[in-house]
Amino acid sequence: MTASPPRPLKEAYKLTTMLDLVLGIDRFEKGPVDVERLAIEYSTKTAPATRIHEVIDRDLTGCVGALVYSDTVPRQWGIVCSTGQTPGRRNFTIAHELGHYLLHRDLIEAKDEGGIYCEEESVHRGEGPDIERQADEFAANLLMPLNDCRRLLPARTRPDFDLLGTLATRYGVSLTAVILRWLEYTQTRALMVVSNEGFAHWAKASDAAFRSGAYIATKNTVFELPSAATAVTGDHSDEARSGILRPRGFWFEESVVEMCIRSERYDQEITLLHLDDAGPKWQADEAVEDAYDRLSR
Ligand SMILES: [Zn+2]
Repeated sequence: MTASPPRPLKEAYKLTTMLDLVLGIDRFEKGPVDVERLAIEYSTKTAPATRIHEVIDRDLTGCVGALVYSDTVPRQWGIVCSTGQTPGRRNFTIAHELGHYLLHRDLIEAKDEGGIYCEEESVHRGEGPDIERQADEFAANLLMPLNDCRRLLPARTRPDFDLLGTLATRYGVSLTAVILRWLEYTQTRALMVVSNEGFAHWAKASDAAFRSGAYIATKNTVFELPSAATAVTGDHSDEARSGILRPRGFWFEESVVEMCIRSERYDQEITLLHLDDAGPKWQADEAVEDAYDRLSR
């Protein structure tokens, strides 16, 4: 017997199937998921007495999004987006809050706090408690259905920023959201490092990279990027964007292809590291300890 898929995936799949049916399986050729409209129409159809009434933009200090409910019973719900988000991040935030509504509204109501307020780490990095990760899983699967993603970006392909940017436009999400999505299913070894002024804010490795020991720890630790990395030197040439081969010892005890772009808006650099399939040959020798020290310092 196989285990049934987790609920966030089931809920996202239900909506994906419905949208495919109504709008056609080529619907992404016409535009991304209209998640604002979907949240209102779907909740009105499935839970008319306790529906989502509106999506509004407000200054939410310290948070990027919220799912709030009325004082009156039956509860009426609303999604709040923090102002100043790019359209891509805003879409993801709404999808994340819709995920909370579909998966957790009983739980949220029982807490009696008027709603749930979500921080950037939870919404845009997939970090945080279980319900935050579930809402994110739902959002990623709703906005970027796996079948469509895999068709355009197969699990063994090593994408550059051009292809990733095309997908971000297709799905109406940020570049980092697309990269996180791809890192979840890729069979290649790859990492994304988001940094500022030479220090990693956060990083994410694909499963294959993580299992081979190629990852960067950023929790409770400060990771300083290699001083000659593009993210540090700021030399954003076309070559740096499309990929520079960095030798063994530069990032890891094996060579990697480094691609880097800068986001002026968020004052940060996104670095993508592609490692080869052959695996970490260094694991067999004494270099393991050095690499581990570097990663965990
Ligand atoms: Zn949340």
